[in-house]
Amino acid sequence: MKNAVRIPDALLRSVLVALALALALGPLGANAAAAKAARPNIVFVLTDDHSLQTIGAYDSRLSAFCREQKVTPNIDRLAARGGLFVNSFCGNSLCSPSRASILTGLHSHANGVMNLDEPIRPGLWTYPDSLREAGYQTAMIGKWHMAGSRPTTDHWRILPGQGDYWHPEFIGPGGREKHAGYATDIITDMSLDWLRQRDKARPFMIMVQHKAPHRNWIPAPRYYHWLADVHVPEPATLFDDYAGRTSPAHNQKMEIGRHMSLASDLKVFQGTNWPGEMKRMSAAEQAEWLAAFGPRNARFTNSQPTGKELTRWKYQEYMKDYLRCIKAVDDGVGRIVGYLKSEGIEDNTVVIYASDQGFYNGEHGWFDKRWIYEESIHMPLIVQWPGVVKPGSRFKAMVQNIDYAETFSEMAGATIPAGLHGRSFVPILRGQTPADWRRSIYYHYYAPDSHDVPPHLGVRNDRYTLANFYETGEWELYDLKKDPQQMHSVLGDPKYAKTLGIMKAELMRLKTDFRDESQ
Ligand code: CA
Repeated sequence: MKNAVRIPDALLRSVLVALALALALGPLGANAAAAKAARPNIVFVLTDDHSLQTIGAYDSRLSAFCREQKVTPNIDRLAARGGLFVNSFCGNSLCSPSRASILTGLHSHANGVMNLDEPIRPGLWTYPDSLREAGYQTAMIGKWHMAGSRPTTDHWRILPGQGDYWHPEFIGPGGREKHAGYATDIITDMSLDWLRQRDKARPFMIMVQHKAPHRNWIPAPRYYHWLADVHVPEPATLFDDYAGRTSPAHNQKMEIGRHMSLASDLKVFQGTNWPGEMKRMSAAEQAEWLAAFGPRNARFTNSQPTGKELTRWKYQEYMKDYLRCIKAVDDGVGRIVGYLKSEGIEDNTVVIYASDQGFYNGEHGWFDKRWIYEESIHMPLIVQWPGVVKPGSRFKAMVQNIDYAETFSEMAGATIPAGLHGRSFVPILRGQTPADWRRSIYYHYYAPDSHDVPPHLGVRNDRYTLANFYETGEWELYDLKKDPQQMHSVLGDPKYAKTLGIMKAELMRLKTDFRDESQ
């Protein structure tokens, strides 16, 4: 009984001590405590070439199909519990350049990464620098793709270049490490390992950067049979003849029909002639793949489709492997959110899902990216931030990859250097879009390579896209309201003469403002 009587006394003493402390600290102490609590953890999941069309939460070409087939249930849940940006864009639709803009808050000409495998200009600020200074623990795991540049996070393990889907090597501060298994699952496992061993007294920021679903789309074995008997809806523009465009669209090499490889892209091969990185699989893993896809290859070899029938077959098989790769990414998102829940920190953690640019899923007959056109310039961007982003929000403000570094810094209460090209979109997340927010976005692509997309400059606002292929002096103008699939440039139409003048002036204004002299 004595003990039973003493417990309330102890409790009473605790309450009195807490009250005395609160009175002594006054409002200042309370504010400091609130400020500390308000510094959220940040989980940034960045994928490679994941199109907006293939996320269920969006209202895009394949969204309903993706919801029906449960392609992205965990990513969709982030959007339901947070919000998504319907006007999120890159400034140069290619892997390394977009990643460099995300890290530096600068367009390509200013950060030095205009093409693949180029390092960030030495000495440039990247957002992990400010987060570390602000007391965050930081980690970068997965695809980095910044040539000789290395992350400035406390902890990092990066894939060399594009990395491999199977048994990938990673580079860390101590050199190269071999890992066994499937890249997407390894990146998720390594991210969870780091989260478990972190200092739980400090906030954290982790960049979980997947290789998937980059070409050549090698799925995890658990999804080999998934979607096998499903028909993926075709785009209306699968057989676009580019009659409404200038010469670059006619001369490109990214058509599913003519340029997608049966061997390395679609894995149709004879005997033991394993294509590309499938050679990295063990004999048992190759046997498992053959058991799933061998009958399909035999059927293809027997039927030998040609013409439009072949394009349609390639589209189906490409899309299924692409979606299978995404499914494993979605599993990873689910596991990380599950961990946050189990630790009781989901409510104080911002989870961002984005891809380095968009991708063609057969629209205009294409795969790949690069163009200023809609499918490639759009970046999926979803943000779950409990208590800040109203669940189910759909933000219409035009955001760009140059805004991420400033946004993450503001979330962390960290320093944002002067002179960056982007702007924090934290006010938008809070539901308060600034009156002077941008109304057009700047675009500059530089890298003609195997896909033969020539360099071009451009500007896009909420109604029009203007593109300038400056090597040939060709221009295109699209009215996105009347022609959302961009089938006919209206450049020569007299009705658009005034609009053309306005758009050209806007392009020159942006080029001057950003001091882009790289053309
Ligand atoms: Ca990419």
